[in-house]
Amino acid sequence: MPKNKKQYAVIGMGRFGSSVAKSLSQMGFNVLAIDANENRTQEISSLVTQAVAADSTDEEVLRALGISNFDVVVVAIGQNIQASILTTLILKEMNAPAIIAKAQNELHGKVLSKIGADKVIFPERDMGTRVAHNLTSPNILDYIELSGDYSIFEMLVPARMVGRNLIELNLRQKYGCNVIAVRRNSKMNISPDPHGRLWEGDVLVVVGERDDLVQLELAFD
Ligand code: ADP
Repeated sequence: MPKNKKQYAVIGMGRFGSSVAKSLSQMGFNVLAIDANENRTQEISSLVTQAVAADSTDEEVLRALGISNFDVVVVAIGQNIQASILTTLILKEMNAPAIIAKAQNELHGKVLSKIGADKVIFPERDMGTRVAHNLTSPNILDYIELSGDYSIFEMLVPARMVGRNLIELNLRQKYGCNVIAVRRNSKMNISPDPHGRLWEGDVLVVVGERDDLVQLELAFD
């Protein structure tokens, strides 16, 4: 059970919202799930702390649920962009401490940021990028975009790196990429020895500018 038991509210029990709600609940947090569709709230009710069928564009409803007392509110309404924007706006006006909103597209994301969402997420776009990297290079296990042009990726050590060390590989000079950790047999080493030889099966956690990471990916393909 997490030490600091945060209270989460998730609005919109579509594929994304229900997955967020379930995961938070499994991690031991209190989760209030809200959806306008009663079937959706019924489906999730046994898996979260509380599930309520309600329209989140109705300010009175949100007030009655005490939504501004939650540490984090996730707005996971996708298709209905108007409802997503109205909900975020109302939450902001009610001074919800942290609003995370899911955007369908760039423009939707911009509006959500402008009206004060603390974090805007693009699950489909980001997952698309990750899958693309994964498909083009089987060595790339995971890919996370950071702010701006930077990304982190996890790379299974390519055959040509096995037996060499980080000094010889010189990825910082050659590709502008930094190895921030090496995972070996599911143990993460966050200060890898630059003289240590890489083994087959090791996973490098690399941070760098997106274009540099692509160059690195291609160079060892
Ligand atoms: P996904 O793409 O993650 O499946 P959807 O956009 O399909 O997301 O689903 C969003 C959910 O949000 C739906 O279950 C829908 O009933 C719910 N929803 C839409 N508008 C409102 C609203 N005003 N109040 C509460 N829930 C809403």
